[in-house]
Amino acid sequence: MRVAHPTHPDPGGAGAGAEAWLYCAAMKHIGVLTSGGDAPGMNAAIRAVVRTAIARGARVSAIYRGYQGLLEDDARELGARSVANIIQRGGTILRTARSKRFETPEARAEAAEILRRRGIDALVVIGGDGSFRGAHRMHEEHGFDVIGVPATIDNDIAGTDVSIGFNTAMNVALEAVDRLRDTAASHDRLFLVEVMGRNAGHIALNVGVAGGAEAILIPERESDVADVADALVAAQERGKTSSIVVVAEGAVPGGALALQRTINERSGYEVRTVILGHTQRGGTPSTRDRVLASRLGFMAVDALLAGRTGEMVGVDKRGTVSVPLEQVWNTEKPIDEQLLELAAVLAI
Ligand code: ADP
Repeated sequence: MRVAHPTHPDPGGAGAGAEAWLYCAAMKHIGVLTSGGDAPGMNAAIRAVVRTAIARGARVSAIYRGYQGLLEDDARELGARSVANIIQRGGTILRTARSKRFETPEARAEAAEILRRRGIDALVVIGGDGSFRGAHRMHEEHGFDVIGVPATIDNDIAGTDVSIGFNTAMNVALEAVDRLRDTAASHDRLFLVEVMGRNAGHIALNVGVAGGAEAILIPERESDVADVADALVAAQERGKTSSIVVVAEGAVPGGALALQRTINERSGYEVRTVILGHTQRGGTPSTRDRVLASRLGFMAVDALLAGRTGEMVGVDKRGTVSVPLEQVWNTEKPIDEQLLELAAVLAI
C-alpha cells in the first residue's frame, strides 16, 4: 500500500533516489505466507524475504498456515535470526493450508481487517496460481501490495521457466528411476513409474529423458493405453529385456495401475508399478532450488519496496523477470516440444 507522506509526497517521482527508496522501506510492513502444496525450497524463500526486508529497513511478519492462518490471525513479527538454520530444510516452517472460506469476499474483508490491525500493508505469497488469485483479490479489493513467488514441484506456473521445488522433485524421482532400472535389468522386467505433476507433465518428461525411459506419458499428449501397451510389448519382442515407463499422474485415466492391467491383459510380461507420490514433495532442497528461492525471495521484497504490486517474480532466458499476476493464470505453460521429440527418438 503506497502511503502518502507530507514531506515526501511522491516517493517514486522525479528526483527520487536512494532517500526516497529508504523512505518506502521504512513505511513497509510485509506479511509473508506459504500457501497451497508445500515444495522444497520454500524455507529458503522465506529466509530471503525476511532477511531482505530487515536489511532494507522494513518490518516483516510471518503468517502461519496460509490464508487459513491469516483468517485466524495466526501471525508473528520476525527478526533476522528467526530464519536461521532453515535453508536446508524441506517443507515450510510457516506451514501451509488450503482455505475454501478465503475464496469468499466476506472472508477476505476479515483478512484485510486483521492485516490492518497488525499494520501489515504488503504480502509476499509463496505458492501456486491458486494462492496468487487470492493475493490478487487482496490487492484489487483491499489495496494491499502483493507479490507472488512461484513454488510448486509441478512447475505448472506460466510466466517463469521454473518454480521452486521442481528441481528437487525431479532429482528425487530420477534417483528412484535409476534404482528401479537396476532391478528391471536384473529381472528382465517392465517398471511403470508414476510421478507427480497434477495436470502437467514437466516432471515426467524431464525425468523420463534423464532416466532413459522407453516411454513417457504426459497429460499434454493424449495416450491410448492399449497402443502404449502394444508398443511396449513390441519393444520387448525387438530385444529390449527391461523397460522403464514414466507416467505422469493425470496422463491416463486410472494412472499407471490402469496401464499395468492393460499390459497384463495383452501380454504375459511381468510388470511392476511404483507410484512415487509424496516422496517427491519432501526432502532437502537442491542447490538450484535454494539459489532460485533465495533470488526470488530477495526480488519479491525489492519489488514491493520499489512500489510494485500485483506481480509474480520468476526466471526465464532473460534472467529474473516479473509478470502481472493475471498473466499467470491466463497463460498456458507450454511443454518442451523439443524434449518430447527427442525422447521419442532416443527410446528406439
Ligand atoms: P496453489 O497455490 O498451489 O495453486 P490452491 O489452488 O489450493 O493451491 O490455492 C491455495 C489457496 O489459495 C486456496 O485454498 C484458497 O484459499 C486460495 N485461492 C485459490 N483460488 C482462489 C480464488 N479464485 N480466489 C481467492 N482465493 C483463492
